Amino acid sequence: MEKKLVRIAIDGPAAAGKSTIAKIIAKKLNYTYMDTGAMYRVVTWYCLKHGINCQDEKACVAVINDIKIDLRPDNTVYCGDIDVTREIRTPIVNANVSYIAAMKGIRLVLSGMQKEFAKTHNVVMDGRDIGTYVIPDAEVKIFMIASVECRAQRRYKENMEKKIPCTIEEIREDVKKRDYIDSHRDFAPLKKADDAIELDTSPLTIPEVVTAMMKIINDKLGA
Ligand code: C5P
Repeated sequence: MEKKLVRIAIDGPAAAGKSTIAKIIAKKLNYTYMDTGAMYRVVTWYCLKHGINCQDEKACVAVINDIKIDLRPDNTVYCGDIDVTREIRTPIVNANVSYIAAMKGIRLVLSGMQKEFAKTHNVVMDGRDIGTYVIPDAEVKIFMIASVECRAQRRYKENMEKKIPCTIEEIREDVKKRDYIDSHRDFAPLKKADDAIELDTSPLTIPEVVTAMMKIINDKLGA
């Protein structure tokens, strides 16, 4: 008999630490990690690079099938054969990605790829609509939250380590703006699934969040 796949959906607002934790969890479980935010970021990067207005839905949707998104196992991100791992995290991409992600024509294509992937892999997928729309029947659904201040401080520290220039004020405003647009769009908005377990990571360190997540996962899977 074929073994049943396990799909773990991690959603939550911007900079809640989803991808950091999802990567660690995926490694521990030997599942594939899929960073769906990186996919929206690649589309944004591509539109900016080609001088396409990121608020012009018709123009952005017209190029979606030209964009070859490649999420590699070492967590680098490519657009065709260009390594865009760093470029997709810059302030200009942050400032535009939520407009791109609000376009139904873009979401249908990217979430279609995500749904297909989840049909054949044990996966830890992080995003905004994984538990509500991409994998509504995921075995485990976690909604990670943290205060705006906490998220801004963590992202600032991370950017400093990666030498991505920014100010704490910029980050605070970016996080608030993205959360607002992401949770107010019509199609597949940022929202906790009714059956997701909420985890407030504000007071927790990374190892503590990992421990809490592993407990939720093991409880759910009856391991
Ligand atoms: O997770 P990350 O911050 O990299 O996501 C960047 C942006 O991509 C989010 O602010 C949101 O607009 C969009 N996104 C989304 N749905 C997902 C993942 C990301 O709308 N599943």
